[in-house]
Amino acid sequence: MITNDLETFLQQRKEQHLYRSRQINDNKQLIFCSNDYLGLSSQNYQLNQQIGSSAAHLVCGHHDIHHELELALANFVRYKKTLLFSTGYMANLGVISALMGRNDAVFLDKLSHASLGDGAILSRAKLFRYPHNDLQVLENQLKKSTSKRKLIISDGVFSMDGDLAKLPQLIELSKKYQAWLMIDDAHGLGVLGENGRGTLEYYQCNQEDIHILIGTLGKAFGTFGAFVAGSETLIEYLIQTARSYIYTTAFPPIIAQATLYNLETAQKESWRREKLFKNINYFKSKTQHLPLMPSDTPIQPLLCKTNEQALNANKYLKENNLWVSAIRPPTVPTPRLRITLTATHSFENIDFLVNKLNDFFKP
Ligand SMILES: *Cc1c(COP(=O)(O)O)cnc(C)c1O
Repeated sequence: MITNDLETFLQQRKEQHLYRSRQINDNKQLIFCSNDYLGLSSQNYQLNQQIGSSAAHLVCGHHDIHHELELALANFVRYKKTLLFSTGYMANLGVISALMGRNDAVFLDKLSHASLGDGAILSRAKLFRYPHNDLQVLENQLKKSTSKRKLIISDGVFSMDGDLAKLPQLIELSKKYQAWLMIDDAHGLGVLGENGRGTLEYYQCNQEDIHILIGTLGKAFGTFGAFVAGSETLIEYLIQTARSYIYTTAFPPIIAQATLYNLETAQKESWRREKLFKNINYFKSKTQHLPLMPSDTPIQPLLCKTNEQALNANKYLKENNLWVSAIRPPTVPTPRLRITLTATHSFENIDFLVNKLNDFFKP
C-alpha cells in the first residue's frame, strides 16, 4: 500500500525530470558546484582534539575549544557573542522557533533558504513571504501587521541566485516598524567585504542594526556546523530556549579546532579572496553571451529553458569531467545550472568550463 503510493510519486518525479539522485564525489571531476569558496575544505592540520563531544552542550559536551571558537567567531563578525550549532539548518530552526510564537509574525524573502521557512513554520508565528527583494510589499505587510513581535528574515547572499539582500533598506524598515532583523549570511561570510566579514561589511552596516546574524561553517570556512551572533542577552536566551541547541549532541571538538584554524587561515591568506574575485570576473567576462543571472558573488547561475535542458546540460558536462549542479523546482522557481567559483580554480579550468558551456548552449 505505502509502497504503491511512494512509487507513484517517484514515477511522477521522473516524468517531470525532477528526480534527484546522488552522484559520488571521487575528487576526480573538475567541480563547479561546491560552496568551498576559499578552498579551505582540504586543508591538512595536525589536530589534537577529541572527535566526539560525548554529550549535549548543557550536559558535559561543552569543551574549551568550543569556547575558543565562539570567541574567535564573535571577534571576526564584530558581535558581542556567538553560539555554535551543529548545522545551519538546525541554527535557523532553533533560533526562529525560540524567538517567535503564535502571536508573532515572521516576514521572509520568498527566495530565502528552506531552513528559514521551516523555522518560521515550526515557531507557529504568522508567516508572510514577500517577493524576492520587493521591499514595497514587505513594507505593506509590516504596516498591516498587528502582531506584537515582528521578525524580518533574509539571506545576505541568496544561495541559488547569488544576488544580495538590500540590507540598508531592510534596516530602515526594521527601525520604522520596530521589527527585529535576522540575516543568514551563509554565502557572504568569508567572501564579501574588505576583510571577508560578509554582507554586513560589504554594506558597512552597523552590527547593532542586525539583531541576529547566522553564519555557517561548511561553506567558505570549509568545515561543518554553524553559529548565531548577537547580543549577550540574545545568546543567553537561546542557550535557555533553542531546542535544536539543547536537545542534541554538542558540536564535535575536532571540527571546532579545524574551524578555528580555517578561520585564521581565511583572515591571514587574503590571496584566497583576491583569487576568488579574479576568477569571478574572468568567468563573467567570458560568458556575456550566455543567460547568466546578474551576480557579483561566487554563485553564478545560468538559466535553462526547461528542467530537461538543465539535466541534459549537467549530463553533457559530466561526460566532460565537469561537475555543475542542475537546480530545479521545488528548490528554485526556475531551472538553472548553479555554477560556483572558488579560489582553487585556474583560468584554464574556467576556460575549459566555458568551452563546454558554449558547445552545449550553442544556438
Ligand atoms: C547552506 C545554508 C544553510 C544550511 O547550513 P548547513 O550548515 O548546511 O545546514 C542555511 N542557510 C543558508 C542561506 C544556506 O545557504
